Amino acid sequence: MNLIILGPPGAGKGTQAKRLQDRYGIAQISTGDMLRAEVAAGSAIGREAKAVMEAGQLVSDAILIRMLRARIERPDAAKGFILDGFPRTVPQAEALDGMLGEKGEKLDAVIQLKVDDAALVDRIAGRYTCAKCGAGYHDRYQRPRVAGVCDACGATEFIRRADDNRETVTARLAAYHRQTAPILPHYAAQGVLRVVDGMADIDGVTRQIELALEATPA
Ligand code: AMP
Repeated sequence: MNLIILGPPGAGKGTQAKRLQDRYGIAQISTGDMLRAEVAAGSAIGREAKAVMEAGQLVSDAILIRMLRARIERPDAAKGFILDGFPRTVPQAEALDGMLGEKGEKLDAVIQLKVDDAALVDRIAGRYTCAKCGAGYHDRYQRPRVAGVCDACGATEFIRRADDNRETVTARLAAYHRQTAPILPHYAAQGVLRVVDGMADIDGVTRQIELALEATPA
């Protein structure tokens, strides 16, 4: 099964994509995580991407398309994938159509998480993840059961993304509306777009996604 989860920054794409990965045995592919790994490694791509990401803008289509093409060939994606953060532009969406066409595959569904812009700044400014296992938390909406200890793995180190601050969020939202939202009609025309209310709580959103996928022809 090949899925895309699409929505503005802070909509909950990463949280839901991780759940879909476990439920369907498909690879969760986050281009943001891949780029952050390149930045941390100090690679040529990372050096080029760092300032762009910190400004809340989009890294070039050429880099992203090359990265994604290599990633979906890896063995863990053999049963399919859930893309989180890709495509973010019309050229990326067209490139993905081409890659799937070459492999004789198709997209099963594109899940759009709809969230009010006003809620996003709050969601993003308070979020952090476990440094060891990547489990996601939020200062107000999703605290660990024991303060300072990861529910999933017991680690006590947490990290906040460099671009998760109020200033950068505004630029990231603008990039979403200007460059990413125009790909929605592309998928609506293919009949694969499924719209989900991303304002519901985390379990409620998961249930809506599962219902939307059950209604999707195999
Ligand atoms: P994310 O973790 O998906 O919010 O991505 C973090 C940042 O990485 C974005 O704000 C962009 O700067 C960059 N990025 C991630 N995916 C893409 C993409 N598909 N195209 C361009 N830039 C991307």
